[in-house]
Amino acid sequence: MEHPAALAGPPVDWAALRRVLVVRPDNLGDVVMAGPAVRALHRAAPNARLDLLAAPAGAAVAALVPHVDGVLTAPVSWQQLDPAEVPPDADRALVRRLARGRYDAAVVLTSFSQSPWPAAYLCRLAGVPVRVGESKEFGGAGLTHWVPAPPDASHQVDRMLHVLERVGVPSAGAELRLDLPPPARVEAREALARRGIGAGEPYAVLLPGASCPARRYPPERFARVAADLSAAGLAVVVAGSAREAALVAQVTGAGRATTTGPVPPARHATTTAPTPRTRRATVTGETGLGVPGLAALIAGSAVVVSNNSGGAHLASASGRPVVVLFAGTEEPAQYAPRGTPAAVLTVPTSCAPCRQLRCPYGLECLDIPPPDVARHALRLAGGG
Ligand code: SF4
Repeated sequence: MEHPAALAGPPVDWAALRRVLVVRPDNLGDVVMAGPAVRALHRAAPNARLDLLAAPAGAAVAALVPHVDGVLTAPVSWQQLDPAEVPPDADRALVRRLARGRYDAAVVLTSFSQSPWPAAYLCRLAGVPVRVGESKEFGGAGLTHWVPAPPDASHQVDRMLHVLERVGVPSAGAELRLDLPPPARVEAREALARRGIGAGEPYAVLLPGASCPARRYPPERFARVAADLSAAGLAVVVAGSAREAALVAQVTGAGRATTTGPVPPARHATTTAPTPRTRRATVTGETGLGVPGLAALIAGSAVVVSNNSGGAHLASASGRPVVVLFAGTEEPAQYAPRGTPAAVLTVPTSCAPCRQLRCPYGLECLDIPPPDVARHALRLAGGG
């Protein structure tokens, strides 16, 4: 039986709304997975401008999510690990920004372990009259439409669609999509050409980064995967953000030259030339692309190998096969890619799911032999 205050708000006339704020201020992958919810809102409220409140990491991909009309970028206080780093006036400043948006409604999207109440209360203070979100806990007037939470094991995409369905917004499909602008595709093609990977040549994208160390398959193992794929004749691009240049260089082998000086840009880190004798293909690093270029690089690949991070969701949204090295920090049921060929690899451990940023043990949950990873990648790249 539901709490008497659940869904107590009056029906929302979504078609009459002009300005709607979608709140998803966490990581890039969370914003990609919010795409189906945004699509459903767009269909229900076709006359509304849809703005997204996102953290800097999520804002980087927002322009690729169909139907997002604008982005408010803010490192919101309730998502920060260290309260000391949050400026005292941060919440008041955000309330002022939200008030300037004159939103008719705010939809707060959260994972099972996040609370909608901080965002809901800031939206209330900003004068947003309709505030929708889901929570296990009662929080009073912060939300005008409090949706009881679905089961914890629900997939992120389904969780967000569930909130909307309970307030009269039907799903418009759960598949992830991205709009890639033509310049991003050009940027990716040029990056490949600089590395000697010609148009039409199949290549794998390896993504060794993740938002926290506990989710990162060790770089030396990524290097073994890259070597195995290369030996099988598949070109390999080890990609990441500029901040991940050292990690990418470790995987490509260029990291060995960086121990006593500054890290050179990994985009110059081509390490292995093709040789007819072994059919060994290029292994190269790429950290010079922005998120749109990276998404285009992924969209053109034969297969992606990624940690449980935003790259896996970019692959899923591009319909590319993906091998996910899934740490026991989270439940695969909540985050695993769907709708694209995928191999989700993990080692069951008694400590999972741990929600840790750093593994206090030996990262046993990612103790996956590189040849197994390469075998899955080659199978998926071959359409198997
Ligand atoms: S080994 Fe256990 S504690 Fe360490 S990251 Fe994996 S699940 Fe978490």
